[in-house]
Amino acid sequence: MFADLHLHTNFSDGTYSPEELALEGKKHELSAMSLTDHDTVEGCARMAAACAANGIEFISGTELTAEQKGIELHLLSYHVALDNPKFLAEVGKFQKVRQERIREMVARLNQLDVPLQVETVFAIANCRSPGRPHVARALVQGGFCRTLDEAFERFLKVNRPAWVPKFKMSALDAIELIHQAGGVAVMAHPGLNRSDEVIPPMVEAGLDGIECFHSKHTPSATRRYLEMAAQKNLLITGGSDCHGMNKGKPLIGSVKLPYQYVKKLGAKAAEYQARSAKTRATVATRD
Ligand code: AMP
Ligand code: ZN
Ligand code: FE
Ligand code: FE
Repeated sequence: MFADLHLHTNFSDGTYSPEELALEGKKHELSAMSLTDHDTVEGCARMAAACAANGIEFISGTELTAEQKGIELHLLSYHVALDNPKFLAEVGKFQKVRQERIREMVARLNQLDVPLQVETVFAIANCRSPGRPHVARALVQGGFCRTLDEAFERFLKVNRPAWVPKFKMSALDAIELIHQAGGVAVMAHPGLNRSDEVIPPMVEAGLDGIECFHSKHTPSATRRYLEMAAQKNLLITGGSDCHGMNKGKPLIGSVKLPYQYVKKLGAKAAEYQARSAKTRATVATRD
């Protein structure tokens, strides 16, 4: 039995709907799937229903944009309570900032004599958590760039003329936010970060796991993080980071996480959920 715990839909910058993604999961014979859209859990309800319809176990998730010592990193949250008010308020802030960032990127493009309209980007994005891939798609559809890669290379990559920095939450605060929502905090694709120095302070702050298996990890990166997980007693997760047709070919199926890791993840979440239920009970008694 295998799982894919890192997937995106059109609730952020993926191209599949939750229903299409669940069907892909079934095609690849996945036993469990998690939806980890950027800075949103909005797609989780539909994904849960679609997975149930296909006999697939669903694990709620998100991929939060965070930072540690000025370095951007992504934190995966698993098993968060989808109605946790604090969690929803925080991701809501992220979404607002993402929308403002799209306006700023389009304004910069306009200054560069690229007459792209912000409404066009929002129509393509059609979600509350838009990002650079949506601007890239708009640039291609408008005939301003030939490919998505060209759009990133010419305009959208770090330090290119239409690049706008993204709001990031402190990784340590993000870990706390995930835990109070009964979720498990996992560092996404550590092999894509330039340095591992960000990891120890996060472990100290309660980081629960690292994503050892990822479609962009080299075999040696996977080995390195498996060793690190063993050393630091961290959970091991993995996923394809499939964005649908965004990057050419869909990546789902390229990473198959053995189901034993899904079980361990669930056990950890149960611990946090028991703890937060206890806190709620104490508060209720006090009231
Ligand atoms: P954002 O969250 O708005 O900063 O956008 C980040 C997203 O852009 C991630 O999903 C990246 O994988 C994607 N991305 C970065 N570079 C490229 C590229 N050259 N072509 C397509 N997508 C990219
Ligand atoms: Zn993405
Ligand atoms: Fe990521
Ligand atoms: Fe991702």
